[in-house]
Amino acid sequence: EASEKESMYLVSEFAQKYFQSTMYNTDEGQAIGLSYFKERGFTAETIKNFGLGYSPETWDAFTKEALGQGYKLEYLEKVGLTISKDDKQFDRFKGRVMFPIQSMSGRVLGFGGRILTNDKKAAKYLNSPESDVYHKSKVLYGIYHAKQAIVKQDNCFLCEGYTDVIQMHQAGVENVVSSSGTALTSDQIRLINRLTKNITVLFDGDAAGLRASIRGIDLILEEGMNVKVCTFPEGEDPDSFARKTPQEELLRYLDENAKDFIQFKASLLMRDAKNDPIKKAELIRDMVISISKIPDRIKREIYIQECSRIMEISEDVLFNTLAQLVQKDI
Ligand code: ATP
Ligand code: MN
Ligand code: MN
Ligand code: MN
Repeated sequence: EASEKESMYLVSEFAQKYFQSTMYNTDEGQAIGLSYFKERGFTAETIKNFGLGYSPETWDAFTKEALGQGYKLEYLEKVGLTISKDDKQFDRFKGRVMFPIQSMSGRVLGFGGRILTNDKKAAKYLNSPESDVYHKSKVLYGIYHAKQAIVKQDNCFLCEGYTDVIQMHQAGVENVVSSSGTALTSDQIRLINRLTKNITVLFDGDAAGLRASIRGIDLILEEGMNVKVCTFPEGEDPDSFARKTPQEELLRYLDENAKDFIQFKASLLMRDAKNDPIKKAELIRDMVISISKIPDRIKREIYIQECSRIMEISEDVLFNTLAQLVQKDI
């Protein structure tokens, strides 16, 4: 008999096939789900490759079908596809387009479901709840499709959303994953660390994206990895930018705008604190804090020299600040 976890995987894999065939083979699925993805600029090949689907606008069509095929209610509830209330069953994702979330080895762990409208009242994305098979802090959307390219390119692009991964992939940038709505975690970074030491953060060109990039930097440095940041024009995310930019130009943009974290922080300074000595001091201290997260002592020293050069401040001052922050190795 299959183990409990295996039963949860099996029911999730059934759901992925159900949502997919509902999208391709029903009038509703084609008119609403498939056309939604096409309007976003996804090709037929992309839609198939990522296993995208559609959950119909009914209360319980999926749950009925699954139960009818012999899948147990217990497991449907455990993976959160079915919600039971007063002995009645409801489909969690009704009326949403579906993004299956896969493990490194390709198993379906859970789903993200997007509403089709831009209705501000409803949550835009709904995700599977935490379960024994889906731990959102330990998965990266797109890792299954990206892993070979990450190794080959020896770099991983890290973005925020499902559609960023898909659109970039379609544009030929296949070494791309997303944290999909959770603040980046060390477990997610370690997943990438198995494949490459180099991460380029590509967060949205808005205030939230900028804050998330800044938080991400220190976590990545703590894992002993190298981090670059590439920002997008205000209001753009990798999805919207990749969609309207020819492939060669996109590659050039990523190449030319990916700044080493210290350069990235320096450019923030140029923008926000150029003529303000207090802000400048705060940002320099902030840079040294980031440097202090780097486990390797030699690398730390190289970055201190770099910081000194860019910020026109003496290495001595920076080393003293670093020494206060770093107990180990001294
Ligand atoms: P789209 O282009 O489809 O509008 P997006 O990916 O650009 O979506 P963002 O608002 O930039 O969406 O959010 C980034 C990611 O955060 C999403 O892809 C999703 O994984 C997650 N997310 C966004 N809104 C929600 C929400 N209301 N609940 C849960 N997760 C969300
Ligand atoms: Mn955003
Ligand atoms: Mn976005
Ligand atoms: Mn978007």
